[in-house]
Order: sequence, then structure tokens, then C-alpha cells
Amino acid sequence: MTGLISKKQKIKILEEYLDMHYPDVECELNFSNNLELLIAVLLSAQCKDEYVNRATAVLFSKYHTVQDYANASAEEIESYIKTLGLYKAKSKNIKKMAQLLIDEYSGEVPNKLEDLMRLPGVGRKTANVVLSVGFAIPTIAVDTHVERIAKRFDLALEEDSPLEVEMKLMKIFPKKKWSKIHHQMIHFGRYECLAKRKRGHVCGLKDICKYHSKVEV
Ligand code: SF4
Repeated sequence: MTGLISKKQKIKILEEYLDMHYPDVECELNFSNNLELLIAVLLSAQCKDEYVNRATAVLFSKYHTVQDYANASAEEIESYIKTLGLYKAKSKNIKKMAQLLIDEYSGEVPNKLEDLMRLPGVGRKTANVVLSVGFAIPTIAVDTHVERIAKRFDLALEEDSPLEVEMKLMKIFPKKKWSKIHHQMIHFGRYECLAKRKRGHVCGLKDICKYHSKVEV
């Protein structure tokens, strides 16, 4: 069936499905300002958002400003995020990041991709999430879910890097839809189109998904 449908039709069907099932999706991390957003996104690398939210509920009640994080020892920060993977590296990065924000950005979270990517522990995906969620600047942050969905629907090639996937998605979807489609793809990947579990028999998009015919039963 997938071969009979044009790429344009597939994109339309995917968009309609996501709009119907995920009309108002947002970032699932808890935060109350851009510093907390930045820290929460940094902590979410290889961790589920619900675990990050549990850790940050305490962390954010102890530390409020960049100075608080810069003044704390990495070990102190560690003690609040021990339940999260890579917590040692993440606590060191948070402390260094806070110091860099103080030294070079007047203690503020910058709103440019290249500036955000200079911060310790902040890669392109994290920077794009902060721009999109914190500053309402249209971006498509490519995490594992977005990459998987893009490839399952032939919006990118299997061998494409996250950066190549990002560039292709930005060409396919109009700029005004970038942030929304990013969240919709994350939710679809997180709750329906899972990495391993087969659920093609109940999936409303199986007819346009190459994985259903190849992998699923
Ligand atoms: S059939 Fe499976 S792999 Fe394809 S879109 Fe549905 S859940 Fe995802």
C-alpha cells in the first residue's frame, strides 16, 4: 500500500492524524523559567521526562539562580539528580554551564543556537528545544522519536544523521508548523509508534508506514 501513495499524500495523512490525536501537545518537562527549561532538557538526555520531573521538583526548590548552581559543588547538585542516568557528567555540566552563563551572557539563557551550543552538555537537539519552547523560535529538535518517525514514513533516509533529518523535516513542513510537528512526533513516538513494541495491528497509520509491511505482523 505504501508504494501506491505519493510522498505528498503520506505527509498529508500523517499531519491529519497527528492534528487529530495530538492537537495541543507541549513539552512534558516541568519548568518555570528558561534556566530551569535548559537544565531540565539537559537532564532529559537518555532519561524519561517523568523521572526528570521528579528530580527537578526537588532540585528547582533548592536552586533558583545561575549563581546558586555556579556556587554549588558538583557533588551537591549530584545528590539531587542521582536517579537520572549520566548524573555525574550532568551535574558537572550544570555547574560549568551556570558559570559560563554568568561570565559571558550576563547570567541569562541566550536565544541563539550557536550560543546555546557553546554551553557544556548542550547539543543541537537541546538547543533547539530551548529555542522552541523557551523563546517561541520555530525549530525542529530531532531526538530519537522524531528521527525514528521521520524514517518510518520515508521523510528521511535510514542512513541520515539527526542533522540531515532536521534539514529534511524543515523543508517538508512550513516554518509555522515546526515546533508543533516536533512535539507531535515526539508524542506519537513516545506513546504509539514505539521503538520496539509491535502495534501495527491497532495503528491508524499502518497503511502509509513502511515498517508495518516489513517488520510488523
Ligand atoms: S504501523 Fe507500527 S511502525 Fe508503523 S506507524 Fe504504526 S506503530 Fe509506527
